[in-house]
Amino acid sequence: MKNKPNVVKHPRVKNPVETLANTRHEFGEHGGVNMSIEASTTFTAMHPDVLADMFHGDKGPDKGGCYLYGRHFNPTVYSLSRQLAALEGTEAAYCTASGMAAISATLIQLCNTGDHIVSAHTVYGGTYALMHDMLPVKNGITTTLVDITDLEEVEAAITEKTRVLYAESIANPTLRVADIPALSEIAHRHNLTLVIDNTFSPLIISPKQLGADIVVHSMTKFIGGASDHIAGAICADKEFILELMDLHTGALMLLGPTMDPKVAYDISLRIPHLSLRMAEHGKRAQLFAERLKELGLKVTYPGLPEHPDHGLFSELHCADYGYGGILTLDMGAEEAANQLMDMLQNDYHFGYLAVSLGYFDTLMSCSGSTTSSEMTEEDKAEAGISPGLVRMSLGYTGTSEQRWRQLYKALERMGLVQAVSGPAPGSESRAS
Ligand SMILES: *Cc1c(COP(=O)(O)O)cnc(C)c1O
Repeated sequence: MKNKPNVVKHPRVKNPVETLANTRHEFGEHGGVNMSIEASTTFTAMHPDVLADMFHGDKGPDKGGCYLYGRHFNPTVYSLSRQLAALEGTEAAYCTASGMAAISATLIQLCNTGDHIVSAHTVYGGTYALMHDMLPVKNGITTTLVDITDLEEVEAAITEKTRVLYAESIANPTLRVADIPALSEIAHRHNLTLVIDNTFSPLIISPKQLGADIVVHSMTKFIGGASDHIAGAICADKEFILELMDLHTGALMLLGPTMDPKVAYDISLRIPHLSLRMAEHGKRAQLFAERLKELGLKVTYPGLPEHPDHGLFSELHCADYGYGGILTLDMGAEEAANQLMDMLQNDYHFGYLAVSLGYFDTLMSCSGSTTSSEMTEEDKAEAGISPGLVRMSLGYTGTSEQRWRQLYKALERMGLVQAVSGPAPGSESRAS
């Protein structure tokens, strides 16, 4: 993978929690400190004219506080959406039933039959399948997959039919970082919409501040934080959010991936401590990456100086949250990867063998045979996804030293590090 010097000046980013803290707080019906859950699927109009006005778009949540129907705007989902907009620094946002709903609705809204997308080749498996397999057949929308870190390749793939430039802020699972300011410059010069999936780096990277037009999230991961809800969000300007809700042509309104208000309420309670969680995920990942590197293992983490995008990440991120909670360890072969994960889960209780990420405990999976298995062998090789690549989403339960001892024990049994008696090398704690 080539690494082109970029010419775009990167702006200094503002910590999004400041905007979030200034967002209007929604109190409960009886003055409760938490908002009430609006569970109704339909809403009364005080006068028959109001309903007609709503269908004409003359009244709505921001125009007189009027609501129509639960698949259209819902007050509880709308309140969570305002928090997402604050988090991403966009004018508006709306939440969806899943991350894939957010991604597919956005792409279908932006592209008509015959239109074209230029996308990073290293994206979430479901996104890859949507672009590579489904959209061409069902919608006549084609995608050219490129190495997003090669800006010349990105620009060369743009045709007169291209509408969207798509990337993940931190690519899954290669952990390459998108140069959002440079991509924004290219996108806007060609009149394209830059869509960034920021699932791996809420608060850490603020794509809108860096020049993206639309930010999508799987809130199933870090934002949800407890692996108990499938959820997503689209953060954009007000015009685009209203377009998605259009009664005749809106992808959210008509495809209907509606977020349940009870889910919106649950997730709204996780947003206030997202900043604490992201900082701790990042601290643990940084510590373990440094120690694994010292042991001579093949670890990839953007917080390590030798990571190809370390410098770029350092310029783009909000330093309060570090370099993210995900690292990868290349075990070479799938068998070795499986053996390590098996021991880590079943013998040392270090974490769980499971896909997904952003949970409070550590989750581990072998990317090539799981979350990236939708990719062809050729595309996987091109993206640098080796068959023995273990992706770890570091949790924050227990203590760092306790978790490190568990990890070290498993590496020791694999014969990858020297057997020691007493504390594992790298440990600051002398307690065993
Ligand atoms: C999980 C994930 C998605 C899909 O989100 P769902 O909530 O599972 O639909 C999209 N993008 C990335 C980067 C993800 O990790």
